[in-house]
Amino acid sequence: MLSNARLKYPKAKVIHLQVMNRLKFLISRSLSLSLVLFTISVAALAQQQPLRIKYWLAMSHPSSHLFEVTIEVGLPADANPSSLDFQMPRWSPGRYAVFDFAKNVQEVKARMACPAGLDCALPNLAITRLDDQTWRAQVGSFTPSGMSVMFSYKVFANDLSGTFSQLDSRHANFNGGCVFMYVVNHKQDPVSLSINAPKNWRVINGQTEGKDKTEWQFPNWDIMIDNPTEIAPDWTENDFKVEDKTYRVVGDEGGKRPDLVRDIEKIVRTETAMWGPPEFDSYTFLIHFANDGHSSDGMEHLTSTQVIMPGSLGEAGMLEETLDGIAHEFFHVWNVKRLRPIELGPWDFTRPANTRGLWIAEGITNYYGHLMQRRAGLSDDAKLLSTLAGQITEVENAPGSRLMSAEESSLSAPFIDDAVHAQHTNLENTSISYYPKGEVLGIVLDLLIRGRTNGKASLDDVMRRMYQEFYLKSPNATYYLRGRGFKNEDFERVTSEVAGMDMSDFFNRYVRGVESPPFETAFAQVGLRLVRDPRAPVAIGVSADENDQANFKIASVRPDSPAADAGVEVGDIITMFGGIKLTPANFLKTIARYKPGDRIQVTLQRGGHPVQTTITLASTKVFDYRLEEMNDATPGAKALRSAWLNGK
Ligand SMILES: [Zn+2]
Ligand SMILES: [Zn+2]
Repeated sequence: MLSNARLKYPKAKVIHLQVMNRLKFLISRSLSLSLVLFTISVAALAQQQPLRIKYWLAMSHPSSHLFEVTIEVGLPADANPSSLDFQMPRWSPGRYAVFDFAKNVQEVKARMACPAGLDCALPNLAITRLDDQTWRAQVGSFTPSGMSVMFSYKVFANDLSGTFSQLDSRHANFNGGCVFMYVVNHKQDPVSLSINAPKNWRVINGQTEGKDKTEWQFPNWDIMIDNPTEIAPDWTENDFKVEDKTYRVVGDEGGKRPDLVRDIEKIVRTETAMWGPPEFDSYTFLIHFANDGHSSDGMEHLTSTQVIMPGSLGEAGMLEETLDGIAHEFFHVWNVKRLRPIELGPWDFTRPANTRGLWIAEGITNYYGHLMQRRAGLSDDAKLLSTLAGQITEVENAPGSRLMSAEESSLSAPFIDDAVHAQHTNLENTSISYYPKGEVLGIVLDLLIRGRTNGKASLDDVMRRMYQEFYLKSPNATYYLRGRGFKNEDFERVTSEVAGMDMSDFFNRYVRGVESPPFETAFAQVGLRLVRDPRAPVAIGVSADENDQANFKIASVRPDSPAADAGVEVGDIITMFGGIKLTPANFLKTIARYKPGDRIQVTLQRGGHPVQTTITLASTKVFDYRLEEMNDATPGAKALRSAWLNGK
């Protein structure tokens, strides 16, 4: 994903490998259960046999926002389970907050299907809701060898997003994780999908090889939900080819469309030049210009990305913002969709994801998303350096950056990746996003490696070596996807190998620790200097609520700040400041009249009552960072900078 919006995608597996994995699974399971094996019924073992699973998706009343899902499960002929459990994920890959998609499920039913060719009326099966996300269909009483269970439900969907889904009179846009339940213990089985679209609506996704395709086969459920799909009466498609791969740009708006398609092709060429050929035949960019001022997202998938922009393509800056999202999401084709932290696929959807690797998966992707726009010629040196300095500004000013490491930030993803909190939190002061934190670490690592190897190696080599070792060359570790996931220790080892020196001190201090990385040394390698300017002459350490323009209402209080020392709390309104009525508009001008050490009489409104306090002003701890050229940069440093910026 992107930080307010993120983007992701996967691809088909080889059947015999699946069978191998299934066998390994059965063997290990049998061993672990050997003591109690004889008490386990034949039905329980039958649950581990692959089932024939087909998903039917219909949308007969688009304005109701209700998708109609039927899961047809063919029971094995030799032994039948007494029941089948169906489970809605609590979250879906790429966005790690827990959303509990089961909340939008309604009208759950199950019945036996009539045997093929027969017309019959079979009664509904009993359904038991086992917990918040699981439904059990009782099938045992029928002992229906070789028959199918038809499990059906409706799911409400009215969000245009990279994680949620939308069905309305204009279109259907779905992300499978919030629509499709899986059959418990059978997430690894091959599945098929059939879409029944409204008349004259057309279907497109990252697995649409020909026109009017409505049926798909997937090697497992995890891959099926990695295929966001747009179904609408009208959309535009522009195709281009890069090295024999077909790329489709699918969207809903004209205007600057030729520019958009041309620049996406530049991004594809530049990122492919770094990584080598991507492992697919075709890839689809699904782009919506929502033009509603708020819908904004991006999500990576194995052979597609879904990008949703809040504005229209014609408005100022929107083309550039869209390309910024695309550069990030397309980089995920390699980093996270295929080269992945070990915890990211296959997933356990009964509990939140826990991985230490999101600073690599998202943060380093964020870094390359910016760098690749420069290498593709979509931005110049000044713009890239300003963007990178902006990321440093964000990280270095965040109090949470000195409390939360990059690894802890990754583990905190369920709380900080667009999670909604009913309970008040202190995360603003205690957390840092793995996007900018990982990006800053990526910048520093890249430049240090370039400097230490005198330009012979870079972070590009680290990423390529990781992709080779863990994705392309590793035997499949699970049913889910080619290769195996990596641990942070693997990334550290490969980084040390590429750098030609032990990098454990770097990882201890800046990845697992919370120290500021060695900016000065890193930027000096390429003849640049990081400088910082205080954002204000003095500070009290608060921010104002942007939604209240009339009052200076406190939205946040920095720990260890003059305001915190004076007992100011979030929600207080500063009415009088040194005898002046304070507003958000006159705040900076008002405090600029003072200097650090001055003591100011302040009146607060707290819970409707006036409170008097004294704030002792201090120097600001907030700085704006920028990168400037060193006057004495050596030709060697300039050559390293050019190689970095141009990808040579
Ligand atoms: Zn991302
Ligand atoms: Zn649409």
